[in-house]
Amino acid sequence: MSEPKPKPKKPRGVAQLIAGACIACGARCQSVCPVNCIEMTDSGEPIIDTVKCIGCQKCVKICPADALEMYFTPEEQKILAELVVSAVPVEEEIDPEAAAIAAKLAQYRGVWVFVEQTEGEPAKVSWELLGVGAGLAASLGVELCALVIGENVEHLCKEAFAYGATKVYLLDAPIYYHYRTEAYVEGCCHLIEKYKPEVILMGATGMGRDLAGAIATRVATGLTADCTGLAIDDKRNLMQTRPAFGGNIMATIMCDKFRPQMSTVRPNVMPMPEYRAGAEGAIIRDPFTVTEESVLTKVIEIIRDSHSKGAVDITGAEFIISGGRGMMAPENFAMLQELADELGGVVGASRSAVDAGWMPGDRQVGQTGKTVRPKIYIACGISGAIQHLVGMQDSDIVIAINRDSHAPIFEVATYGIVGDLFQVVPAITAKIRELKKQGQGARGK
Ligand SMILES: Cc1cc2nc3c(=O)[nH]c(=O)nc-3n(C[C@H](O)[C@H](O)[C@H](O)COP(=O)(O)OP(=O)(O)OC[C@H]3O[C@@H](n4cnc5c(N)ncnc54)[C@H](O)[C@@H]3O)c2cc1C
Ligand code: SF4
Ligand code: SF4
Repeated sequence: MSEPKPKPKKPRGVAQLIAGACIACGARCQSVCPVNCIEMTDSGEPIIDTVKCIGCQKCVKICPADALEMYFTPEEQKILAELVVSAVPVEEEIDPEAAAIAAKLAQYRGVWVFVEQTEGEPAKVSWELLGVGAGLAASLGVELCALVIGENVEHLCKEAFAYGATKVYLLDAPIYYHYRTEAYVEGCCHLIEKYKPEVILMGATGMGRDLAGAIATRVATGLTADCTGLAIDDKRNLMQTRPAFGGNIMATIMCDKFRPQMSTVRPNVMPMPEYRAGAEGAIIRDPFTVTEESVLTKVIEIIRDSHSKGAVDITGAEFIISGGRGMMAPENFAMLQELADELGGVVGASRSAVDAGWMPGDRQVGQTGKTVRPKIYIACGISGAIQHLVGMQDSDIVIAINRDSHAPIFEVATYGIVGDLFQVVPAITAKIRELKKQGQGARGK
């Protein structure tokens, strides 16, 4: 009787760098190597110690430039070729670390949106997030859920259903009447531990930023702030896109080893979903509360921003006429105000105009200002730096007025006017007045 043939072992090879392909991304390959066999050169390229390399391929998989490949000796290549020809089933070695992570992540399912409210009044961004959350839930094949916390806030559950949620997790108790970090973090973490959602979205508002950061720290997961795009990859990871390096590039960030995956999104970045009056869903009431003594913060009074003198909320405006450095002086903004008054809109500004002291900070549009989504955005004397564009490029119609025909603002403009704004803006205002007069005259006949 002949001895049974030993099962062939698939050679693992070693990693090697493809000459000239490394883009010096910041040593990602080095950071994932489990046996520390990668050193970096001064120019940011890896040197691989092939004696220590165990052929795990982690560096190859993470490299954004496909600059690494697996090298097999001629003998190993021969074995690989024989395995292919003989079609002998080869036992793939399972990476125990990857298997443990996959098992942990599989416990988490569902997309949650935190419904922000102040004294029972919801923040619009919560409904915008239900809109984008619906797409994510569909890609993942899971439920879209809302997380409602407050006192006497059941009416918000109904609204959440109307905006697309099919289930609401509700914490309704006097302790939650005012937003206080300690109470809300305890409540959220209790629900996260119990129901294990894989994605949590919150508004990048004062409340959302505070709560999301505190929760992510407590449950030890990743959080990406101020996302402008959200999608799901083929491994159920949330691809969170946001401006990085001062807005010069768009980075897509993933949290592939921890759950839940948490993102904040600024108001007006995502479109409002359709309102389906009378839509119904399941409400999961949870009796969890914390004691008043355990909450150190006391809310004495809520002073709303919109009540402060002269403040203008540009985020809700349907028409915005923004001025930049091309306005030359603060008094010239009166010309934009005139146009805004005719259209029933508000005046916005670029950061240069705000930094120059021509307009208050609450009018700034852009990465470090407000994100707006008006029906019409008119950019006057604004060049269109990426940091400005990220705050207004989703407007329905963009009209750009600039005397430089190569200004980047024209790349996002629906209509572009190359010319001197000091002639163009008054001409538009005069035309609107004339058309209004004609309209009134026609009605009077
Ligand atoms: C981290 C970071 C965050 C930032 N955040 C923001 C932000 O939130 N919002 C923001 O806006 N910027 C932001 N910036 C600044 C941004 O990079 C630009 O510097 C700024 O947007 C430029 O403003 P501007 O277009 O008004 O000025 P400029 O770039 O100087 O453009 C002026 C434009 O006016 C035109 N012009 C001049 N005179 C006339 C005329 N008579 N008629 C017609 N056109 C005329 C010129 O051709 C020019 O295109 C940020 C920068 C950084 C680094
Ligand atoms: S294949 Fe694995 S062990 Fe080898 S260099 Fe890459 S990460 Fe390190
Ligand atoms: S991961 Fe790729 S691009 Fe980045 S340093 Fe390593 S080889 Fe270069």
